[in-house]
Amino acid sequence: MDGLPRELGQQTPAAYDVERVRADFPILARRVHEKPGKPGKPLVYLDTAASAQKPRVVLDALMSAYSDDYANVHRGLYELSARSTEAFEAARTTVQRFLNAGSDREIIFTKSTTEAINLVAHSFGEAFLTEGDEVMLTEMEHHANIVPWQLLRARKGIKLVVVPVGDDGALDLAEVEARIGPRTKLISVTHVSNVLGTVVPVKELVALAHAHGVPVMVDGSQGAVHMPVDVRDLDCDFYALTGHKLYGPTGVGVLYGKEDLLDRMPPFLGGGDMIRRVTFEETTFAELPAKFEAGTPPIAETIGLAAAMDYLEGLGRAAIAAHEHDVGAYAMARLAEVPGLTLYGTTPDKAAIASFTLDCAHAHDISTLVDMSHGVALRAGHHCAQPLMDKFGVAATTRASIGLYTTRAEIDVLVDALLRVREIFA
Ligand code: PLP
Repeated sequence: MDGLPRELGQQTPAAYDVERVRADFPILARRVHEKPGKPGKPLVYLDTAASAQKPRVVLDALMSAYSDDYANVHRGLYELSARSTEAFEAARTTVQRFLNAGSDREIIFTKSTTEAINLVAHSFGEAFLTEGDEVMLTEMEHHANIVPWQLLRARKGIKLVVVPVGDDGALDLAEVEARIGPRTKLISVTHVSNVLGTVVPVKELVALAHAHGVPVMVDGSQGAVHMPVDVRDLDCDFYALTGHKLYGPTGVGVLYGKEDLLDRMPPFLGGGDMIRRVTFEETTFAELPAKFEAGTPPIAETIGLAAAMDYLEGLGRAAIAAHEHDVGAYAMARLAEVPGLTLYGTTPDKAAIASFTLDCAHAHDISTLVDMSHGVALRAGHHCAQPLMDKFGVAATTRASIGLYTTRAEIDVLVDALLRVREIFA
């Protein structure tokens, strides 16, 4: 099952009422390309991997955070600030539960996955890496899990070791093990590829890495969306996620880190909230998690993220995964019927992300045309994974990504739209 817990793939999605779920998302009721006298088309949103739409409970939580109890958090001595702080810290407990972390001291709020990975690259890099040490990545990483390490390479003279992926997008753990050496200090790997949908067998990878004494950072931007995540079960050392892909607000992300590691790492950003005592001569730092949360945090956004997590748990993480698995497999099968279409990422039981090229049209033209003709929102480009595009010898792909609200009928609209593109170009 390639990392997806076996029981998820076997669960029938029959109990999952996707129409009821869709009703929770106000934006899904809108039409696109409406003009006076023209009714437009229903929105077919297949770009959830770039950013997910938001359920009403998240919008309500944002509104309430600003209209009911808003004040800056921490240190406020009046009721409103205390209530705001309480809601903010309750959100931390929600994230802890969502990831099954052992302590809320291990939950650091950031603005995004990008910031979380930069935090680890700076801070872990500062504490533990010296010239000639190696950080291992895979060929399918998002730029957010490449560039921070390159910046570290420029600062400290470390080396990046890149594990290739197979033509189907699979990561072979033997290829990982073959590259672990005495200078390997960290493996930083995506949980799920945002281009290929490949699910990395993180638990096995972590066990393998730990057997060699190497810690593992997981980029969970896509992983946390598509499957339940239990960081204690995975035993990973760091896990990053980004709120806006998880049906929550933009501007908030999470870094989970094992407490003993975080404790030994220096702060990333300096400023208010992360200090114990400041003089012009010296500053001492706050305990976890405050040490890594300099400045005013994204207060309402964090509360909104917790609402999104509650929402996902209310629907049932396993039920969501089973639904997406069903629609994702349907999409892969239906797309394969389109003449001249090549799919990238074909591992069995991958996450519900389908990247493809058409022999008759450029990715950007496909995306523009399917939007205009059928109201289908697709992403086209390099998906912030240019090294992976280079591997496959393409400049860009078009990507359909499936969320908890996507239906099989929407996949049918996509296929009709692609057949229309063929008619125009072929
Ligand atoms: N990693 C992966 C696998 C992603 O898909 C993305 C976003 O597309 C990111 C990292 C970066 O997320 P953000 O831009 O929210 O920091």
